[in-house]
Amino acid sequence: MSAQQAFDETADWPHSLGLQRQAAVLAARRAWRLAPYRKAWSGVGISSEEDICQTGWATLPLLSKEGLVDAARRAPPWGERLQVDRSDIAHVFVAPGPLFMPFTARDLDYVARSFAKALLACGFQAGDLVDQTTMYNWVIAATVLDRALEQIGCAVLPGGIGQTERHVEVIRQLGVNAILAFPTFLEHLLEQAAQDAQPLPLTKAAVMGELSDPQAKSRMLSKYGVQAREFYGVADVGAVAWECAAGQGMHLRDDLLVEFVAPGQESLAEPSAAQPAELVVTDFHRQAMPIIRLRTGDMIDGLTHGRCSCGRGSPRFNRIVGRASEITKVKGMFVVPRLVHDVMQRDGIERPYRLVVDRVEGGQDALSLEVAGAPYADPAAFRLKVEQALRMRIDLRFVDALPEGAPRLIDRRFLP
Ligand SMILES: [Zn+2]
Repeated sequence: MSAQQAFDETADWPHSLGLQRQAAVLAARRAWRLAPYRKAWSGVGISSEEDICQTGWATLPLLSKEGLVDAARRAPPWGERLQVDRSDIAHVFVAPGPLFMPFTARDLDYVARSFAKALLACGFQAGDLVDQTTMYNWVIAATVLDRALEQIGCAVLPGGIGQTERHVEVIRQLGVNAILAFPTFLEHLLEQAAQDAQPLPLTKAAVMGELSDPQAKSRMLSKYGVQAREFYGVADVGAVAWECAAGQGMHLRDDLLVEFVAPGQESLAEPSAAQPAELVVTDFHRQAMPIIRLRTGDMIDGLTHGRCSCGRGSPRFNRIVGRASEITKVKGMFVVPRLVHDVMQRDGIERPYRLVVDRVEGGQDALSLEVAGAPYADPAAFRLKVEQALRMRIDLRFVDALPEGAPRLIDRRFLP
């Protein structure tokens, strides 16, 4: 029996951790054949795949989203990280950067299974009629979530993002009982529907763990009768954690290695309220592009250990409390400030700028770009170029000045 088959959500966590570490070493040994991993790991004294072992695991350099983007730019399109023949690729997802994420058919099936486990834990079951409201274009989310719902035996409505009124109308017409959404969109939809005093048939929701308002779930239950459960995933590896019926936090996935590091550092750290730590993930299954020790950029502020009343043995965390890097997520999409710099550079402009994320009325997130100095001759054309680069609408503002050395990204969504 392989380690993969032995994973079990109800096993004691130390047992699961042991299997994870074994499987992670095997995945890293396979990845040794790829030049970028070989180069990075040589720097810490690894000279053959046999040198990769559990004892030295924590010394292997971490991978970052920025590093993947840089590699893809230097050696397009795969950044020398493709581990299979081109003909074995079944899907390629595209993130700004650019970053191309190839998956074999088996890779994608495995990712879908991870989300199926997450959604089952969140209370979805065979026979549910589910409005799937995450994005279908380019990114992985909707494709794998559709498959996950299908694996459970749900009926999927591929609603996709936006068009709140259309969602409300179809949910009523069909008697849709479950929805999969970002929490901000779900709350907006529920508020919109409540305006015409006709209750929606929705009783349950699975929401993606983007930085979420800790009160949102209880509000949705008390005001609208919708039981929302949360799950958290990372595009490269699939579901990472999910809530169960106990509603006491999100359980770490059993068949994925999740480590924690202090923000901006490489050393392992236990997350705490005083010192939130960043999740680092290692996948054992993905063949097309192995992911070994990837910084997710997402931070948590504590883990609850011990067996849960649902029977799962894995530790739980309450929510993602922030982002460790300059990259953040808005409406489920990564926002990379450097892409603005690239647009300016192409236009021969050099000005201080910053991106500001705000939560506006209705719970929607809004992204603004502030540029120091007098407005450009054609601000609309510039805004369009930035929007194309970020793949997101922005509000462009010219300001007198920006603070010296200020960060290029301000996330105001959760400031008190
Ligand atoms: Zn539980």
